[in-house]
Amino acid sequence: MISDVVVIGAGIVGSAIARALAATRLSVTLVEGRGDVGDGTSKANTALLHTGFDATPGTLESRLVARGYHLLGDYAEQTGIPVERTGAMLVAWTEEESDVLPRLVAKAEGNGYLDCGIVQSDEVYRRVPDLGPGALAGLTVPGESIICTWTTNLALATDAVARGARLLRGARVTEVVAGPEYTTLRTTGGDVRGRWIINAAGLGADLLDAEFGYHRFTVVPRRGELLVFDKLTRPLVPLIVLAVPSSRGKGVLVSPTIYGNVMVGPTSENLQDRTATGTSEQGFEFLVSKGRALMPTLFDDEITASYAGLRASTDHDDYLIDLDAEQRYVLVGGIRSTGLTSGMAIAEYVAGLLADAGVDVTERDDLPPPPRMPNIGEAGLRPYQDAERVAADPEYGRIVCFCERVSAGEIRDAFQSPIPPADLDGLRRRTRVMNGRCQGFYCGAHTQTLLQSGAAR
Ligand SMILES: Cc1cc2nc3c(=O)[nH]c(=O)nc-3n(C[C@H](O)[C@H](O)[C@H](O)COP(=O)(O)OP(=O)(O)OC[C@H]3O[C@@H](n4cnc5c(N)ncnc54)[C@H](O)[C@@H]3O)c2cc1C
Repeated sequence: MISDVVVIGAGIVGSAIARALAATRLSVTLVEGRGDVGDGTSKANTALLHTGFDATPGTLESRLVARGYHLLGDYAEQTGIPVERTGAMLVAWTEEESDVLPRLVAKAEGNGYLDCGIVQSDEVYRRVPDLGPGALAGLTVPGESIICTWTTNLALATDAVARGARLLRGARVTEVVAGPEYTTLRTTGGDVRGRWIINAAGLGADLLDAEFGYHRFTVVPRRGELLVFDKLTRPLVPLIVLAVPSSRGKGVLVSPTIYGNVMVGPTSENLQDRTATGTSEQGFEFLVSKGRALMPTLFDDEITASYAGLRASTDHDDYLIDLDAEQRYVLVGGIRSTGLTSGMAIAEYVAGLLADAGVDVTERDDLPPPPRMPNIGEAGLRPYQDAERVAADPEYGRIVCFCERVSAGEIRDAFQSPIPPADLDGLRRRTRVMNGRCQGFYCGAHTQTLLQSGAAR
């Protein structure tokens, strides 16, 4: 079998591209090296739906983040991806930082975002009463939002499959063999052939790019560690609290999460090891000291988890998206710290590049409706809260994970979904099971049994 297009990498970016191209008459295969979709950088980020107010004006990233913000916001409404329109406040703690605020307003306007406003200290504290002492002024960014990155990835991949894309998991591409009519990808799951190859391999994109004969960039895994606080802290953080960016980066933020917690982070540390997603003592101490200064009362409550993600940063200042017509190959690289937001816009852009190269990407008129995703957001109605649903199917009233109130019905549904989880972590991303303060101490064994039992499938 030869697909018209093979997309490598089923993170948010690759899944969005596969979904967009599966809307055409092209046959599409999405290959993923891991056992599940969304198991790379797309599963461990800060989960903000960015307006792009602070991007560098004129870059491709600025353009695609601004566009992706609207595309993903609309798609979230259609599919039920949890989003909370909290808004953000960027806080200035020194005179020097206060002086930067007007420049940030101008920069936001340069990015096409016109809703920022500067507020004085009393307004900052009116909006975030528990902020630490010493805030001088703030910049409001009403459009910044929090979103569920797990559901986003799953919705895009599910939609791609519903539109006819073939999904191959556990198929890591190890070698690329060029041919006159098509390219053969040697993978750990067997050979895969495609007329066009799209490289959306995140942290592995430069290695695959080299298989096509290029040596134009190197991925530098930039680790971001985050701390997660107990749900009791959620009222302390009504919106996203950002730092004024400096030459050292964007700084540490305090944000509500879509699951009803609060998080502090991320750190920013260049590493060599592309698999180093563990947290560190040094990162923990850094975040505690920064976080305490931002909001001391937060630290009266408990940190219940910490995690880390690796940004696929590169030695370039912008996204690297390039089409090679001769090899029928598209590189989608360097999607560093904004790809959750921009993924759908990147997909649209890639479709445009293919159209320019003469590929017919006209949308079919027989597309299935977008999938309706299970709600795992805290602000929406959860199955256990829905009396009618529980009455119709008591499995939604049978709680398996008490911290996160996940029902047996949701776990069953995850196993019966078009892209079932491959392991406990995949089940956690689909349902929130074992995601709570006990870290699966109470429900872990039961959930493991459900994973293994045929009844759950
Ligand atoms: C700490 C942190 C905070 C962030 N915060 C935000 C935020 O708030 N908002 C936002 O918009 N973005 C944010 N991001 C960025 C965002 O998470 C990424 O840009 C996005 O997830 C990248 O998606 P991707 O599909 O390119 O990569 P990935 O999700 O890593 O997907 C790439 C996939 O390719 C697969 N792969 C690699 N090599 C091969 C191979 N040889 N064969 C087959 N498969 C392969 C991998 O297994 C992986 O699944 C953040 C990132 C980090 C790390």
